Amino acid sequence: MSGKSFFVDLTKCTACRDCQVACKQWKKLPGEKTRNMGSYQNPPDLSDVTLRLVRFSEQEIGGKMHWFFLPDQCRHCLDAPCKSGASLPDSIIVDPDTGAVVYKEKTAKEDAATIRSSCPYDIPRVNKKTKIISKCDMCNDRVKAGKLPACVQSCPTGTMNFGDREAMLALAKKSLADAKKKFPGAQLVDEESVRVIFLTQDKPALYAKNLMADASNIPARAPREYTRQELFAGLMKPVRSILG
Ligand code: SF4
Ligand code: SF4
Ligand code: SF4
Repeated sequence: MSGKSFFVDLTKCTACRDCQVACKQWKKLPGEKTRNMGSYQNPPDLSDVTLRLVRFSEQEIGGKMHWFFLPDQCRHCLDAPCKSGASLPDSIIVDPDTGAVVYKEKTAKEDAATIRSSCPYDIPRVNKKTKIISKCDMCNDRVKAGKLPACVQSCPTGTMNFGDREAMLALAKKSLADAKKKFPGAQLVDEESVRVIFLTQDKPALYAKNLMADASNIPARAPREYTRQELFAGLMKPVRSILG
């Protein structure tokens, strides 16, 4: 399995949101009306014009407050459940060079509820007027021109890394070994199944409920894709049992 991958070292993320802004700028996406939700997270969720969102999680551990920051985006799954949920062959494509999972305007003709519920990371969003479904496309235009994705290019802390999949997997494993010296609970998330490999300093659930794949719900949500998604769920189980 070749192509490209991200390695996202969450032990280095400061929630500066440079990546969130860079994504908006490169994609020429507008700001959106938002609201105070009692958190620095802003806007409150992903949308058809916010393809990347830094999620903020406050957790009390051992009587002390801790921040956990998650720059959330499409994981570019190796065997994408959302593509399996599509009825048209060319509404969701996989770039043969990079492995990017790319949504086309034809997604407007798809059943949005099926596509949305097929994603184990709760990523796709729908434009209310056009019905086109949107998500991160790996900045596939930049990558094919030899550049880094805008979010990676803008990250000042070394959290965001991008390159050939083998190199990113090697970097992820080396970084995990280093991180475990300071954070014994550090782990990689679903690294054998996705092209956006997160390194957490503690349990993924502390960051956000959608950081780790919610594969258990997929068959019930998208019954017509049961067999393929069941395979996806099965792929996750051994990875989780190894990581604990
Ligand atoms: Fe985190 Fe880097 Fe994004 Fe800043 S730019 S929020 S450090 S991933
Ligand atoms: Fe599709 Fe969701 Fe995987 Fe992205 S994370 S490729 S939207 S299933
Ligand atoms: Fe946004 Fe591009 Fe990064 Fe995807 S790869 S989150 S589209 S900047």
